[in-house]
Amino acid sequence: MAVETPRHSAVGGLLHYSHHQDLPPGTLVRAPLGRREVAGLVWGLSEPEPEPVSAASGGITLRPLGHALHSLPPLGAEWRALIEFAAAYYQRGVGEMALAVLPPELRKLDDIQLARRLARLRKMQVPADPAPSGLERHPTAEAPTLPALSPEQAAALHAIAAATQPVLLHGATGSGKTEVYLRAAETALAQGRQALVLVPEINLTPQLEARFAERFPGRLMVSLHSALTPAQRLRSWLLAHLGQAELVLGTRLAVFASMPRLGLIVVDEEHDPSFKQQEGARYSARDLAVWRAHHQRVPVLLGSATPSLESWQRVQEGRYLRVPMPSRIGGGAMPRVRLIDMNALPKVPAGSERVLAPPLLAAIEARLARGEQSLLLLNRRGYAPVLHCGACSWKSGCPHCSAWRVFHKLDRTLRCHHCGLTERVPKACPECGNLDIAPIGRGTEKLQEQLVSLLPTARVGRIDADSTRTVGSLEQTLQAVHAGEVDVLVGTQMLAKGHDFRRVTLVAAVNPDGALFSSDFRAPERLFALLMQAAGRAGRDAAQAAASEMWVQTWHPTHALYAALKAHDYEAFATAQLKDRLAAGLPPFASLALLRADARTAEVAQAFLKDAAAMAREYEKVTVYPVVPPHVSKLADVERMQMLVESPSRVALQRMLADWLPGLHSLRAQHKGLLRWAVDIDPLAI
Ligand SMILES: [Zn+2]
Ligand SMILES: [Zn+2]
Repeated sequence: MAVETPRHSAVGGLLHYSHHQDLPPGTLVRAPLGRREVAGLVWGLSEPEPEPVSAASGGITLRPLGHALHSLPPLGAEWRALIEFAAAYYQRGVGEMALAVLPPELRKLDDIQLARRLARLRKMQVPADPAPSGLERHPTAEAPTLPALSPEQAAALHAIAAATQPVLLHGATGSGKTEVYLRAAETALAQGRQALVLVPEINLTPQLEARFAERFPGRLMVSLHSALTPAQRLRSWLLAHLGQAELVLGTRLAVFASMPRLGLIVVDEEHDPSFKQQEGARYSARDLAVWRAHHQRVPVLLGSATPSLESWQRVQEGRYLRVPMPSRIGGGAMPRVRLIDMNALPKVPAGSERVLAPPLLAAIEARLARGEQSLLLLNRRGYAPVLHCGACSWKSGCPHCSAWRVFHKLDRTLRCHHCGLTERVPKACPECGNLDIAPIGRGTEKLQEQLVSLLPTARVGRIDADSTRTVGSLEQTLQAVHAGEVDVLVGTQMLAKGHDFRRVTLVAAVNPDGALFSSDFRAPERLFALLMQAAGRAGRDAAQAAASEMWVQTWHPTHALYAALKAHDYEAFATAQLKDRLAAGLPPFASLALLRADARTAEVAQAFLKDAAAMAREYEKVTVYPVVPPHVSKLADVERMQMLVESPSRVALQRMLADWLPGLHSLRAQHKGLLRWAVDIDPLAI
């Protein structure tokens, strides 16, 4: 029996219960644990003999089970294997992992309620009446006319059909990767199988859903992501589990969908960091998708214009097959990349500020005159990153975090982007009373304001986490852009992802240099992907492609990253980065785990990690690095510390962690004031 308890608690592993009849593995049950009743799953009949359970859990060996949810078909062996692998790899309990990825609603229903729901869903045979909720679509059974394949698409499909290993579909933006996904799904569906399509962000699901719905009329499609209501999520999940839904589209949590006839997995934008869960079991949906496909012997397609260096390296090792699609559909060229050397510009007089380099401003004005659109990318939201007092040098720090509070001019607030603390902007400096406190630096709000005054005739829109907070506001702005009601669009990286802007002929990165010298070794990889993706937003219309440009304002115009960008040469960039990573012993040439500790004081967090490190001294091929504070070391009044564990061998690291981590549970008791500790396997940020 796998119940919902963390691995590093007293009751971590599988528990044993008796039941008057043999329940098949994968059956959902309610089981008593101590004085509570928890959700559980029957895990297998081959479990070893019960071990004595510690007194702390109430001595529950072989207690009778609560009641079983007989109406729900048991979760299959393949699904349980995925959970077992994920739990072992990410160092969690099997029950914790399993219950965390099932729809929460499932726990609230009793067997009778569930049976009723299932009966309703089973009746939903396709083709049926028009969908009531819009969650699933199955319009008329009319077959759509298929677009002709480009030679590259045809070759890709040919290679995919013959491949025995995971396929990395390395396709430029606009090369028609989606059509390849659609055809691959068609093949799976024709064989009576289900297809799973993963995308990094909820915002990207509607347009992909529309493409799939149009292509597969008469097929039932469901979506699975965190923006669904609990009832919708349960419904989608059940339809997939029953095998009714033939297409499952979703974000990272969908990798755990129970699909009894799984025949294909697609991971779109496989390089995207959103596939990594950042709390609880910090799993990578991309990596689990590859494992799941391999385990179930079904094809897996990883698509990207800028693959992750992990996947790229696996291609070099022959473990993945790279299928290239370098050309844009319709023969459109990639936009020309122009680097503006900020060092070469005439100095601005003291006290004034240069918003955009004069040639860039002129280029935007020219677009404006022609009725074309421009996108300006600035990776900092708000008005200014910090407010500053010139008299006493006070800065708008967050009292609860080691971070500045950002000045938002629209609602006159100072906001901490880490803990959320929001306060009215003070009228005077809180330290010395000076009235002259001023913003330093620039965020998207300020850039928008500056553009409005520089280009009085332009209609300037903005897309970032602030402007899209209310439901429907993102769609509204996007619609305005598509309708040609916006001339210049300012935004954060949200802009660069997936949206199809037909009339954009200029994209500019206003201040991208920061990532070149970041302490995060993945920062250049992310910057390159972002800029390539942003460049791909320009000239989607083949007719305009030739006139399209990507501008980059930089103080380091000779940097290798920009040289590769200029040549649209991902391969050159990846080769150089991998060389650096190899020399530094970093992923994909080493495996990492990050042990984090949170406490009220930095000393407690540090002491816990130091003691943990002392316990880890003996392991071969594993290096435990010194304890350091993370980038934001204090968050919401919690002090944080972390320690990196590294090994050139994934297996050695896994073995070490499995041996070492359980001991930290008892170590915890010796450190009063420790709030929590956690391990992050294959961390994205260190
Ligand atoms: Zn002051
Ligand atoms: Zn804060």
